[in-house]
Amino acid sequence: MKKIAFLGVGNMGNPMAQNLHKAGFDLTVFDVSTKALEVATAAGLKAAKSASEATNGVDAIVSMLPASRFVEDLYLSEGGLLDVTPKNTLLIDCSTIAPKSAQNVIEKALAKGFEMIDAPVSGGTAGAAAGTLTFMVGGEESTLEKARPLLEKMGKNIFHAGKAGAGQVAKVCNNMLLAIHMIGSCEALELGSQNGMDPKVLSEILMQSSGRNWSLEVYNPWPGVQENVPSSKEYQGGFAVDLMAKDLGLAMEAGLEKNVSTPLGATARNLYRIHSQNGNGRLDFSSVLKMLQESSR
Ligand code: NAD
Repeated sequence: MKKIAFLGVGNMGNPMAQNLHKAGFDLTVFDVSTKALEVATAAGLKAAKSASEATNGVDAIVSMLPASRFVEDLYLSEGGLLDVTPKNTLLIDCSTIAPKSAQNVIEKALAKGFEMIDAPVSGGTAGAAAGTLTFMVGGEESTLEKARPLLEKMGKNIFHAGKAGAGQVAKVCNNMLLAIHMIGSCEALELGSQNGMDPKVLSEILMQSSGRNWSLEVYNPWPGVQENVPSSKEYQGGFAVDLMAKDLGLAMEAGLEKNVSTPLGATARNLYRIHSQNGNGRLDFSSVLKMLQESSR
């Protein structure tokens, strides 16, 4: 496998594509956003003018798009990728989308003779840049094995979650938990700060205590506590509030379908929706700290 098309070079796709490029794959990228394409080409990636130009003659296509409807449109629309791509092209969708949507796209791809997996990721933009993402893969194990040489260049942990859509189920569970511990970490830091503690000192204590979690450890929401995290860059880049609200919506849908109670997930979704409606949708999701601060001051 040599020639690869990467579609969707936003906050995550750009660093992921760069790792494939650095690993020596013949890579062409495409994004509907001119700005995203400019950033990618400035970083040395070869860009195409359309998805069909990027995917012409490639061995594999990797997509990294915002949500279900974008993925369905790319693959399933009339004249979309399933219509115009040769059947021996391996299809890998890394976007976080509804499990049902992933199942639908993969089912249609398989019916047309393609091999396809859902392979959403965890690890954030830093993990994407470092090539240390965790991949949660749904689909046939034999298809995962074909994709593995690509995934290994972008990630450190590759799990076979189960059949088509199972990667998305794992991802939705992970992100619900992530939102809950991010909000909890923000609450704890604001509580400590309002009671006279330095958030940096408090973070150090919590990281060696039973409140320890990923949000505190590698993605601290308090500006200035850690370098190179979105909170220290005015919550720019990273993982958008709107994308987190989307993922929590996917978790709520999955819960409703199977009658599973997710009270903290539901609260987290409401908080992220309100935070977005207050004009913060494009900020990183750790900016939920600002919302708690506004209500406590
Ligand atoms: P983003 O909005 O920065 O990037 C998505 C890109 O896809 C945009 O540049 C957009 O223009 C492009 N796009 C949309 N439709 C397209 C199409 N038809 N063809 C080509 N490009 C198209 O989002 P992101 O933060 O990179 O996230 C991408 C996906 O990864 C989302 O599903 C998100 O939930 C998931 N994710 C994000 C993070 C994170 O930390 N940002 C972490 C894990 C997973």
